[in-house]
Formats: sequence, structure tokens, C-alpha cells
Amino acid sequence: MSNDQCLFCLIVSGDIPATVIHEDETTLAFMDISPATRGHCLVVPKNHAADIVEADPADVAACATVAQALADRALVNLGADGVAVTSFCRPAAGQTVFHLHFHVIPRYEGDGLVLPWIPTQGDSEDIAQAAKELTR
Ligand code: 5GP
Ligand code: ZN
Repeated sequence: MSNDQCLFCLIVSGDIPATVIHEDETTLAFMDISPATRGHCLVVPKNHAADIVEADPADVAACATVAQALADRALVNLGADGVAVTSFCRPAAGQTVFHLHFHVIPRYEGDGLVLPWIPTQGDSEDIAQAAKELTR
């Protein structure tokens, strides 16, 4: 369940070095090489899956549990003021490495990171229609 063309599979196998901060039977967590903020790390399943939709739900759950623990450590051990946990799925969402990963990004007051959208008033009919489509 590994893909030798996949960067994160090569990190899981140890063929490419990474600064590992957590390992268990199912998951690996390591520091992001280009951190958005101090402490930015990634959690991946050891099994290869391209993204959150393709992955085994049990692997997604295991990664989410590790992300939760790392978010807590970011607050307590790094003194972060908040944490953003996110996973991009497909290029349109900003995904660049096609092995499921959760970003755990410590946030610090005044760190200057901005939301990838500008919150504006939504169209209530379209919100309701999208909700129906997501309920099917
Ligand atoms: P994505 O854009 O797919 O959501 O995130 C991919 C992440 O992987 C980026 O934050 C990027 O900095 C990180 N990354 C890319 N190549 C490497 C690498 O070789 N080692 C590590 N540790 N992180 C990497
Ligand atoms: Zn992979």
C-alpha cells in the first residue's frame, strides 16, 4: 500500500529524510519543510492514498486523532495562540503532494497569515440549495 513515486511514501519508508515527531502503526507526523509558521507539521497515513476522499476512513480518523494531539502540543509546548488543521483535496483546493496529509499550523497573534478567502455576505438561496445537494 505504498507508491514508490510518492514523496510522502518515501518519507514513510525512510528513503527520504524528515524530522519525525510522531509515529505509530498507522500514521507518521513530521515537520513541514516550508513552514507557514513555527511548528507547522504534517500528519500522514502510512498507507498511500491520494487525498481525504480516496483514503480509508480508519486512516483518516487515525490522522485526525494525531492532529488533535499535535494541535494541543502546539498550544501548550510552543505557546501558540491557536491552531489551524486542514487538508487540501485536489489541485483546485491547493493540494500539491498527492498523499493524504493534514497540516497542523500553529497560529500566533499577529503572525500575518491570512484566510484564503474574504468573508462576504452569501446568497441565502444558494446556501440552502448547496445544503440540499450536500444532504443527498
Ligand atoms: P499541500 O500543498 O499538498 O497541501 O501540502 C504539501 C506540503 O508538503 C507543503 O506544505 C510543503 O511545504 C510540504 N513538503 C513538500 N515537500 C516536502 C518534503 O520533501 N519534506 C517535507 N517535510 N515537507 C514537504
Ligand atoms: Zn504515498
